[in-house]
Amino acid sequence: MQTSKATKVSTLSLVNLPDIKVYTLVEQALGTRPIKQFLSNCSTELINANRHWLEEEHLIKDDLLLFSFKSFIVKTPHHTYLIDSCIGNHKNRPHRPEWHLKNDSFFLDSLKRIQISPSDIDYVCCTHLHTDHIGWNTTLVNGQWTPTFPNARYLLSKKEFEFWQQDHFIKPNDSFADSILPIVEQNKVDLIDSNNELNDFVRMLPTPGHTVDHFAVSFGKDKHALIMTGDLIHTPLQLKYPDIGSSIDFNLEQGIRSRTQFLETFVDTDTICCPAHFPNASAGRIKHWGEGFKFSALK
Ligand SMILES: [Zn+2]
Repeated sequence: MQTSKATKVSTLSLVNLPDIKVYTLVEQALGTRPIKQFLSNCSTELINANRHWLEEEHLIKDDLLLFSFKSFIVKTPHHTYLIDSCIGNHKNRPHRPEWHLKNDSFFLDSLKRIQISPSDIDYVCCTHLHTDHIGWNTTLVNGQWTPTFPNARYLLSKKEFEFWQQDHFIKPNDSFADSILPIVEQNKVDLIDSNNELNDFVRMLPTPGHTVDHFAVSFGKDKHALIMTGDLIHTPLQLKYPDIGSSIDFNLEQGIRSRTQFLETFVDTDTICCPAHFPNASAGRIKHWGEGFKFSALK
């Protein structure tokens, strides 16, 4: 994947949530993957039929799909939440040259610019345990992987954790070793059910398929006002056609079911959704579009 080094911090102003602030932290913008390689069941005919709108901001030359790699911060009157912790520094990722042993200040500088220090984070919610969602869980300090957010509880699905623990046992996995095990060893982790109500404002929604126990994170008192959807949806093409999966899905059929159910539940509601990898807009609402759905970005 080619990735340009760029960073962007934006504040989303959410009209229906006057007492919380949401920030997007983009660690790497404009990563690319060949669309036919990344989407597992997507025909050339279907790509061509949708090319005119995909090329506005999601598909570039040589049929490369655009992605960005970002985290979200949600600041409520009581707590500050980090949803997914992106790529991280000094991580051994030889299979991803643009992430491998990188050392840049985009992520931490972005936090600084919104006047949040790592020690202000109360909860780190990991939607799933793929490398690009857990990297800043830890920082290399004097040769030791140390929790980046010293006062945070890190919330991981128990089932997801046990899956990757077993995977790591069978074949050592660098990202589990450097971004998960150190926070477990330092007693920073709460292993939760993916169907979990954290408090009266925050709950997890099980959305398995991309990984074994992926969850989305929903904010709002007595309603789903805002949902961070993690990797339930990688590209708007999967809204128009929810039965398109990604080639890295753990269980394609289960992912299709989770995506379809989610879209049917939240279409034409006020709920604001924040997918993890859309290249430009970070927040929008779900609308009907023909027999499928579309992402209507917040202006
Ligand atoms: Zn991802």
